[in-house]
Amino acid sequence: MSSDDRIEKFTSSKEEIDLCFARFEEKFPTKADREEAILKSLMPIGFRCACGNLVTDREYGKRDVKCSACKRKSSITANTFYHGVRRLSAYCNGQFLMGEGIAISANDFAKRNGISSSQGNHILHTVSCEIVREMENAVEILTALLLEPVAKRSKETPAGEHPKKEQDELEKKSAKYGSQRAAKNPREFPAALPLREKDKSIFELLQERPLNIDELVALAKMALSELFSILTMLELDGFIRALPGNRYEVVQKIPTAQSMSVIGAPTEKLLKWFVRFVKLTFHAISRKYLQRYLARYWCFIDRKRWTFEALLKMCARAPYQSSSQLVSYVTPLQAKAVLEVA
Ligand SMILES: [Zn+2]
Repeated sequence: MSSDDRIEKFTSSKEEIDLCFARFEEKFPTKADREEAILKSLMPIGFRCACGNLVTDREYGKRDVKCSACKRKSSITANTFYHGVRRLSAYCNGQFLMGEGIAISANDFAKRNGISSSQGNHILHTVSCEIVREMENAVEILTALLLEPVAKRSKETPAGEHPKKEQDELEKKSAKYGSQRAAKNPREFPAALPLREKDKSIFELLQERPLNIDELVALAKMALSELFSILTMLELDGFIRALPGNRYEVVQKIPTAQSMSVIGAPTEKLLKWFVRFVKLTFHAISRKYLQRYLARYWCFIDRKRWTFEALLKMCARAPYQSSSQLVSYVTPLQAKAVLEVA
């Protein structure tokens, strides 16, 4: 697959979404079928009643159970991720779409499920939020590099300012209060790549593998004196470092996660792909929730890991989150990202 094919795939067409809905309806024709998929994920072997009895007898698609030992009535969804959720079937649909690698806006999702757009938004956000938890070992990237699609106001947007100003506010706050995040200087990585063309070309040569000075002279077709000054600048800017024997290598500033199939540090190209994904499907987002869109992106590209079953399982383990918890979240200055999968 060429890289262009991939770019074109960075959203889901209406036809793809229609087909996915058809598959969903075929697999789960009734509301009970959809709700049962979620209930079963919550209690694969049965429901443990407060009295200790394992209740295995339950009406299909119904969340209420009655304990045969103590006669107590309980709800399977109480104090779970789905606590107080009335439209379990819409959750099932959201997880199914995400599990099939569909990128869908909250509005479209809501419309197709006959729910309000705020409900639709809430469902997709709660699921994304759990994916964020799974990103603990992912690489960290500066949100300052990802502001292009930020054009939606949030509670964090300073009055009368552009939504992008949220970033400045956060950087100021972070510097002022010396939070844990502030320890990581947001200006540490001024750019993903050196800015000057000549610097960039040398940097790119070194990205392939470490090279010695003779190899560099041959590849760059540049005078030794000019090459040396470029290498010095790159070294001072922290892009490369010198190795014994006049060799140079690229500094891997952003550690790669070990438990994830992450390849290398995010390049400019990968950041652009994420931006494209956001713009094509969501058009404009608030800075505040950038991290959740990074989670959506991971889900979109990692078709091996984020299946419908995996999402169901993840949510079944997840704790309940109130709406206020959900909206009070603010993406830190350094967000977690999986921009490429093996
Ligand atoms: Zn009981």
